[in-house]
Amino acid sequence: MFKKILIANRGEIALRVIRAAREMGIATVAVHSTADADAMHVRMADESVCIGPPSSMQSYLSFPAIIAACEITGAEAIHPGYGFLSENANFVQIVEDHGIKFIGPTAQHIRIMGDKITAKDTMNKLGVPCVPGSEGGVATLSEAKSLGEEMGYPVIIKATAGGGGRGMKVANTAEDMESAFMTARAEGKSNFGNDEVYIEKYLTTPRHIEIQIFGDGKGRAVHLGERDCSLQRRHQKVFEEAPGPTITEKERAHIGKVCADALADINYTGAGTIEFLYEKGEFYFIEMNTRLQVEHPVTEAIFGIDLVREQILVASGEELSFQQDDLHINGHAIEVRINAEKLPDFTPCPGRITHFHAPGGLGVRIDSALYDGYVIPPYYDSLIGKLIVHGRDRPEALARLDRALGELIVDGIDTTVPLFRALLEDQSIHKGEYNIHWLENWLENYEG
Ligand code: ADP
Repeated sequence: MFKKILIANRGEIALRVIRAAREMGIATVAVHSTADADAMHVRMADESVCIGPPSSMQSYLSFPAIIAACEITGAEAIHPGYGFLSENANFVQIVEDHGIKFIGPTAQHIRIMGDKITAKDTMNKLGVPCVPGSEGGVATLSEAKSLGEEMGYPVIIKATAGGGGRGMKVANTAEDMESAFMTARAEGKSNFGNDEVYIEKYLTTPRHIEIQIFGDGKGRAVHLGERDCSLQRRHQKVFEEAPGPTITEKERAHIGKVCADALADINYTGAGTIEFLYEKGEFYFIEMNTRLQVEHPVTEAIFGIDLVREQILVASGEELSFQQDDLHINGHAIEVRINAEKLPDFTPCPGRITHFHAPGGLGVRIDSALYDGYVIPPYYDSLIGKLIVHGRDRPEALARLDRALGELIVDGIDTTVPLFRALLEDQSIHKGEYNIHWLENWLENYEG
């Protein structure tokens, strides 16, 4: 087992990893930009290294700065968290070339899944059902137009290198195709340096269902059921739950096995999430994330398993602490993402926290790096915390969420908390009747 690991991240996820490491008796190294010198992850780690100025490019994304921090402190492994370098195959390659262990999959697996066309092709061949669409990339507008006619509108044009909801455009009719095609390509080029796009049938009422997988790197893989992340704004998740309110035990067992077998086949190592759109009882693969997800705590809550601990175990060459048959769902869990944003427009709202009070009590978990007097810097993602509740069933979890949101105090800035309180007044949430487009429509009448 490792004696010391470095966490190449910041905010709540850096704390999350420090917590798991500490319980395992592993020392931790935090890295931080000059803007984060007072951040909670720096205070909580055993050691810390300043790796550069506020700009992520020169700090949290700087390969040499992070590798030097490992060498200075003698950290044997790097946990990347999510975002930043967590899905950067070149980084993983360089880390391993320096004799440092990357806590995650191999560079090759990250590369395959990071390119959505290659990922889809790979999953298709492994027997995972995919969204109908183009076979590979679509190079010209005329090819795109004839595919649109053939498949029937609406279709979605997606940048193969896209992520975080960027590089995707919907064409509802043939007239929309030119602008959608050109915009998706331009976004792919400017955000990800790759203008290759592909086309998929645009599903009009799906839910977003994702399967949590763990591979041991020795040809075995298990699944930890699904999360329903259908409540999205601009293709970004805001509210996630497990198990999915509409998924039956039979469906779970079936799609879970398909996913676990696929990843066992490619000898996958560590945590991964296979994302699907789910409509009329069918699953359609959209992409795979080769890292820990923001919403992983809902899975942890219903299975009682620490996923970061398992990541560290597998990376150090040890066995997973559980097998498929050991896993049983207990109750229902919900996570809401608390962002430093002003409603109703979701404008980023950094600044000083004058008072912070975290809710508590049975079945309440808060993952956040906030503290009284903390100044949220303007340079990074606006996620400042996650509230996770667990109950014996969905109604209990919803009641607990409402209660916990009522206790939470974040003074000094605006947050997305009022959005969740308003959502909890809507019967569709209580009935679990929503799809990936529901929140966008609901927000049209939301005044904050
Ligand atoms: P990203 O990598 O940017 O997260 P994804 O491929 O995971 O992109 O898609 C993100 C979200 O976009 C999905 O959860 C869904 O809401 C929407 N989406 C993606 N593909 C389709 C599709 N074929 N039909 C309808 N919605 C889609």
